[in-house]
Amino acid sequence: MFEVRHALLAYWLARRIKTRAQLKGRTAAKLHNWLQRDVPQVPFYAGRKVTTLDDLPIIDKATLMADFAAFNTAGITAEMGWQAFAGSKQIGKLVVGASTGTSGNRGLFVISQAERFRWLGSILAKALPGFWRKRHRVAVLLPLNTPLYDSANRMQRLKLRFFDIGQPWEDDLAAFQPTVIIAPPKVLRQIAMQAMPLAPEHVFAAAETLDPVDAAFIAAHFNRPLRQIYMATEGLFAVSCEQGTLHLCEDTMHFELPQVGDDPDLRAVIVSDFSRRTQIMARYRMNDLIRLGPPCACGLPHQTVAEVVGRVDDCFTLAGMTITPDVMRNAVVDADRKITDFRIIQTGATEIEVLVPYGVDCDAVLQAVMGALRAWSATARVIVRAADLKPDMSRKLRRVENRWRGGVPIAGIDRQ
Ligand SMILES: [Zn+2]
Repeated sequence: MFEVRHALLAYWLARRIKTRAQLKGRTAAKLHNWLQRDVPQVPFYAGRKVTTLDDLPIIDKATLMADFAAFNTAGITAEMGWQAFAGSKQIGKLVVGASTGTSGNRGLFVISQAERFRWLGSILAKALPGFWRKRHRVAVLLPLNTPLYDSANRMQRLKLRFFDIGQPWEDDLAAFQPTVIIAPPKVLRQIAMQAMPLAPEHVFAAAETLDPVDAAFIAAHFNRPLRQIYMATEGLFAVSCEQGTLHLCEDTMHFELPQVGDDPDLRAVIVSDFSRRTQIMARYRMNDLIRLGPPCACGLPHQTVAEVVGRVDDCFTLAGMTITPDVMRNAVVDADRKITDFRIIQTGATEIEVLVPYGVDCDAVLQAVMGALRAWSATARVIVRAADLKPDMSRKLRRVENRWRGGVPIAGIDRQ
């Protein structure tokens, strides 16, 4: 059963780490033990001599899902996993979870009860330091029930409730009066726009890329900083500190951050989760691009993330060059201050479609986008039109999306 001591332990261990040297020292030993003891326990790495991370190949979701059973100690296949996920979400004592992506692109994970409690403890310790001194009502609004969360219901001072955003949830949420809300940005935005009578002390965006236009709007509504929990089926990657800065969870995960393109801060993300043993995630390439940030005033030595820029899949490719989602987004948002929502879609080799709300000056947006693209391509064809933009609760909101699949791999992150 989850006990407060799991989170307390995570909290105190984190507090004892004050410098990067201490952090590196602590995690190097953990990583080494994991490589020697746990990684060779699953078939994919069996018989391989593993001394350092470099002894392992870099893998991605396609590698993992092609032979899911080769990556866990219980021999659970993807078929068994999906079957369990549709039902009890358990196989024996193991917990099965999945991501919300489009079908064919969904990720599956399997963890033990102990891993689930450590994971939850880690989130609580990072998100709500000192939480055991206060009574919190934590509302988690996500599209699918992830059994990771159920365990906290057993804690006395912490009431945790899950709301399925695929169903009506507004009245139940108002009745619950959460002190902490964890939800995708589009749901927080909906709460803000409908001016629901809620007064949370902490608001966390999770599960989707947080767009600056949403962050500003949501923070203004709740009158407090919007913090982030950056996580996926692959694990817990980063949590904002109380200053609002995202810090990588380097105490439980090893990050390789190869530079992408010319910007030294723009990085791909390759993770090795040395806190997990049931399913091995080693040198796993994420589909996200991040921008590193400067050290934070809060004093945590964990690497900061200025921004989760977006998905590698959603970078545009024009004339053989790569344009990251933030470049497109900034061009559109800066064109007209009235723009608080938009979609930018690459639909062909040189075709880009931009959708903005009614009432926005489409000509100004067109000029801004053409201006931003000039550095890449003089031949891009851009169409800007007004549309009724409503978020779809059944899938992740992607404002910048590449639907053209004839692109070339991005320098620094092409497949092995
Ligand atoms: Zn900080």
